[in-house]
Amino acid sequence: MNQRDPFTDFQRLSTEADNLAHDLAGFRQELNRVLEQNAELIIENKHLRGRLNELAPSTETEPKPAMLPSRRNLEKLYDSGYHICNMMYGARRENNEPCAFCTNIIYGNNRSHQKK
Ligand SMILES: [Zn+2]
Repeated sequence: MNQRDPFTDFQRLSTEADNLAHDLAGFRQELNRVLEQNAELIIENKHLRGRLNELAPSTETEPKPAMLPSRRNLEKLYDSGYHICNMMYGARRENNEPCAFCTNIIYGNNRSHQKK
């Protein structure tokens, strides 16, 4: 008859628990990576959508706000730390450094400015 040794059982369970914890840590890391990637894709998607609206304005009649929605999206993206200028389009702004090209696109008055 097989003699049950409580200590051996404990050790076996202990090892299993360790393995489980290890797997769980790896899974959590993977989950974080996916969530991070997802967040970036959401931003990128908004970014591209805004760009698309800019290139092909929708035919739907919508009230014209002071700032175009696409421009506001660009501003949001820029505030999130990405370049929206032609030179560095989509690249991260290192250390949130300001970019004159980006700000010119968002706040530039070359298109929407109306002389009084
Ligand atoms: Zn830029």
